[in-house]
Amino acid sequence: MKEQDKSTETEKVPCEECLKEIPKSEAKIVEANDYVINFCGLDCYDKWRKKNDTNE
Ligand SMILES: [Zn+2]
Repeated sequence: MKEQDKSTETEKVPCEECLKEIPKSEAKIVEANDYVINFCGLDCYDKWRKKNDTNE
């Protein structure tokens, strides 16, 4: 098992929509079925949601 140092505090995650890397602490985290999706902001979340909206 790999152990990580304190750098997890500044861990970055890619935005699901624009793929921009953002600090995890600033990401908008959306829970999907059994995983989470990160967004840099609500704009991207909105876009993603519209794309993935199956007309409900
Ligand atoms: Zn984004």
